[in-house]
Amino acid sequence: MKEVCILSGKGGAGKSSIVASMAVLLADRLEIIVGDCDVDAPNLALILGSSGDVECETIRASEKAFLVAERCKSRKKCVRVCRFNAIKWSARNSKPEINEFLCEGCGACEYICPDRAIDIKEVDTGKICYFRSDYGFGVVSGHLKIGERGSGKIVDSLRGKVSEIGRVEGLDLALLDSAAGIGCPVVSSVKGCDRAIIITEPTKAAINDSKRAIELVRHFGIPHSIIINKYDLNHEIAADIEDLADRNEIPIMGRIPYDLAFTDALVNGLPAVICNPHLKKLFRGIVEELMLNMGLD
Ligand code: SF4
Repeated sequence: MKEVCILSGKGGAGKSSIVASMAVLLADRLEIIVGDCDVDAPNLALILGSSGDVECETIRASEKAFLVAERCKSRKKCVRVCRFNAIKWSARNSKPEINEFLCEGCGACEYICPDRAIDIKEVDTGKICYFRSDYGFGVVSGHLKIGERGSGKIVDSLRGKVSEIGRVEGLDLALLDSAAGIGCPVVSSVKGCDRAIIITEPTKAAINDSKRAIELVRHFGIPHSIIINKYDLNHEIAADIEDLADRNEIPIMGRIPYDLAFTDALVNGLPAVICNPHLKKLFRGIVEELMLNMGLD
């Protein structure tokens, strides 16, 4: 199974809307699976729907400190050693109190406590869920727990699940919808992919962020293309993006005009090509080029 990652340096560029429409059209031609790697804000299920059962598994990707109150002799050593201000002294209980949101699981408090009154334990950091979309193909989505770190590890687990399903079901293509930016979950989404598509729009912020996204995919040596969303909102900056692509020999895979049909689709919780079939021709061109690029035509 081949894997393509769709990313955008900047949030709000229309990445998930574009992924949903591409997925619906690709599923007419290929056996596909979609991975929602935006584990901070997994929203693809809202657009693609989820019919039938949803299977979820918990991911334990970080550790935290837990007080064993009956062993604590109230020496306050842990309060002094914590560099993250995660332990406060409770005068009322005469015991330390650990703030789970501030604890980084470094283990210093466990090490310093002579009474072994602190245990470091693995904790749930999120989950990955698998379901069938309303359009027949499978979707794996990752969900980070509030206040947790380890988003990259959740994406790693998600991609493991996508690969396993792809192997067992003999699928052709995985479409991975990355988070915005170039941080840890994006690195986990893009590494090892066969191709990347960078979604951008004609704004100064987007062009700047696209340069960082290009740097990222180049670092991993991944062939990539650009889609300019809402390209007709600012012809001058759109021309700058074309120029950037030209100088870096990056093919432009699609130019999507600003169209209220996308807003309409979002309001109705549907892929744009389903809500507004006049967009199908445009997206067919994009998916055909992707299939050609990936040897899946
Ligand atoms: S594990 Fe580290 S961060 Fe967490 S409470 Fe202990 S010293 Fe603080």
